Amino acid sequence: MHNIIVSPYLEGQHLVLCPGREGGLRISRGKYAELCQVAAAPAWFVDAVTQLWGAVDLDPFTEAVLVRPVTGYEYVRATYELNLGCNYDCEHCYLGIKEFKGMAWPERERMLCILRDVGVLWLQLTGGEPTIDKLFGETYSLAYDLGMMISILSNGSKLHEPKVLDLLTAYRPHDITISVYGATEASYDGLTRRPGSFRKFHKGVTAAVEAGLPLKFSLIVTNHNAAEVAQMEALADGWGIPYVTFVNMSPTIYGGAETLPSQSVEHLRKRKPFTGCNAGHTFFHVDPHGKASICKIGREPNVDLVAEGAEGLARLGQIADSLLLRQGGCTGCTLQGTCGTCMPLVQLYRKARSPLANYCQHTENEGR
Ligand code: SF4
Ligand code: SF4
Repeated sequence: MHNIIVSPYLEGQHLVLCPGREGGLRISRGKYAELCQVAAAPAWFVDAVTQLWGAVDLDPFTEAVLVRPVTGYEYVRATYELNLGCNYDCEHCYLGIKEFKGMAWPERERMLCILRDVGVLWLQLTGGEPTIDKLFGETYSLAYDLGMMISILSNGSKLHEPKVLDLLTAYRPHDITISVYGATEASYDGLTRRPGSFRKFHKGVTAAVEAGLPLKFSLIVTNHNAAEVAQMEALADGWGIPYVTFVNMSPTIYGGAETLPSQSVEHLRKRKPFTGCNAGHTFFHVDPHGKASICKIGREPNVDLVAEGAEGLARLGQIADSLLLRQGGCTGCTLQGTCGTCMPLVQLYRKARSPLANYCQHTENEGR
């Protein structure tokens, strides 16, 4: 198993990373070329690694250091939704119908190898709840072996289970972001609509903290727990876990409006003006069936990654450019230049027949 990853990155950069550890090193093209050829770690490399991460076993070099090749693609990040199924039924969940369906192992294996072949270095595993997917262990292990830095989005309910905890402790992810749905059993279980879920969250986080796993919290504020924001923050602080607060609820990925009543109106936050994004150019999303789209929101058109392979991704850039053009109901809006919402998200809100005030951040448009 490798302890260090050396990989090409965007704009001709080359990175040295250590799975499960913070920080990294940028090296020159020449030093990267040297590492592609050597059989033992050069002195400068040993020094740099030791300075960053302390003693790391670099021997034998060809096993301990995974040097990833130049690919000719610019994709460095991807998100992979293993399965839409979940053990909770959160009222705000943007997945809508959460079907327990996903690729069988041969297709997943092929898909993960394609991600490796196009240069994906940072991979987010998500769901549904990824840790309840029956191939979670195999998927995580292969992505790790292929040299990806893995992030996991989870509700934390399975982190205490030895099968999951032992895997993540032995092969450390870059980070695990846990959604927090309340600070008390009543609000948390009320939001997830699953009795006992707060207890499982607590147990999972406690086990992961004891194992020293790199946790982050995403505090989800809905009208169910809006009175508990300070308590949720205190919960994170008590464990010493960094957090971000998520307050704007979206329609479902099918354009369904059933999630929107969960929005805590008093917490609705102005978005930063949308100034473009690299969706479909440097990152993409893969759904449970192996369909690659520009991101989790702009899901159509998409590319059948398993059937078409890496070549199919050549279309994603064009798909992204056309999806991000202002169109439909926003055509003619004179405030587009400072629009705070990207077009794929606007399309979902419009499909959900949501009032403009729910997504348009311009007060001039209020009441339209
Ligand atoms: S835990 Fe996450 S995936 Fe599951 S229902 Fe809640 S929001 Fe959706
Ligand atoms: S939702 Fe919009 S801003 Fe977010 S990744 Fe997709 S295109 Fe980019």
